[in-house]
Amino acid sequence: MGYKTVTQCRVCGSPDLHPYLDFGNVPLANKLVTDGSSPDTYPLRVLFCKYCALSQLSIVVDPKVLYSNYPYHSSVSATFKKHCREMAVTIKGILNGRFKPVEVNDPIRGDSWAQDSIQHPHLLDIAANDGCLMNEFEEEGYFVSGVEPSSNLCEEYRRKRMQRIRLGSSMQNEFWGRSALKTVKSGWGIDVVTALNVLAHVDDVEEFILCAKEALRRSDELGMMVVEVPYARNLIEDNQFDTIYHEHLSYFLFKPLQKIFAKCGIPIFRVEQHNIHGGSLRVYASEYWYPVEDSVTQLLAQEEADGLHRLEKYQVMRFRAEKTMADLRDLLKRLNSEGKIVAGYGASAKGISLLNYAGLDDRFIHYIVDETPDKQWTFTPGSHIPIADPDHFSKIYPDYILILAWNFQKELMDKTRWHAESGGRYIIPIPEVKVL
Ligand SMILES: [Zn+2]
Repeated sequence: MGYKTVTQCRVCGSPDLHPYLDFGNVPLANKLVTDGSSPDTYPLRVLFCKYCALSQLSIVVDPKVLYSNYPYHSSVSATFKKHCREMAVTIKGILNGRFKPVEVNDPIRGDSWAQDSIQHPHLLDIAANDGCLMNEFEEEGYFVSGVEPSSNLCEEYRRKRMQRIRLGSSMQNEFWGRSALKTVKSGWGIDVVTALNVLAHVDDVEEFILCAKEALRRSDELGMMVVEVPYARNLIEDNQFDTIYHEHLSYFLFKPLQKIFAKCGIPIFRVEQHNIHGGSLRVYASEYWYPVEDSVTQLLAQEEADGLHRLEKYQVMRFRAEKTMADLRDLLKRLNSEGKIVAGYGASAKGISLLNYAGLDDRFIHYIVDETPDKQWTFTPGSHIPIADPDHFSKIYPDYILILAWNFQKELMDKTRWHAESGGRYIIPIPEVKVL
């Protein structure tokens, strides 16, 4: 079967869970197909916990099936790279005055880095992907280490690492948990733990946070954990139902996040909202030192006032998602009957999910382009649409480009300016179907 069924809320333990979205049985969005085989399908339903307002999937697919070879590379996106840069500078600012970093690329220092490392803050990035965030912290004078379950991404990091002299960095090929923690604890104490876009993928959230807290224990009182998750407010209010797929087990509002960190004894002292990935929450948590800021109480009150903690809001969202899928289907059927060529841009998990949920396949989308080499010359699971490199646009010229990775809409439209200049049109599917 390869999955287990959720019977109680993973944040508060309540068994009182209410279904509000059901996409039926669909394939795993990131398991691209290389031949004509039909991929396995799994049920996809979303449940709402009335007590802590956590939205969560009704099943948990075995993580080994999901993450053994992961096609998403953080560094491919310039927007994400810039976001990582800003984050490294912000966190350095919070720790300002405590550490005095020295030159990063200093070949004279050579082997003596171990003695010097005491002068540097230490970062641990959990689910480090290809090391995009680690690189930015290293530029700020941090010693960096990462833990990443996908072997292809670890290898890529190690390969690129050989090309430059580093202060000291390491990447463990493992899921975050007790075993990875043991290795981390045998090294230098950690000052900052970061975890971007991973908490929503984790079944045992409490254990994940407790292990991170323990990684910080050997550090001094400034140690903090910084976590980013896609903000469920955007899922609900901006109709981002295509961000629901098997990898995302939880859809966090601030309320359940605050509850789980408090339960783990590492309270959140600051929360920020960022535009990345269609809208994200960044929380800062620490056992000591930092006073709780107004942003925490304000955001909780705002969510409550906006009805986000009540089931009615979610039932409305369901109707909106169904209308968007019907509109997209109608539009593509019409374009197909007019003989138009439609190409997708961005074979992201959300794009692949959207096509499957809306029942759109290779009859309606001629091909999809994506910059990630691992994805090229494969097919989308279920809808079986070929994925090519961006040069393909010039081989089979599209009348319409469907922006599937809509969170990078501006970046993708800038890259294809030639399309607009020669009279081509764009389709933006979310929040409502638009033709530009
Ligand atoms: Zn709950």
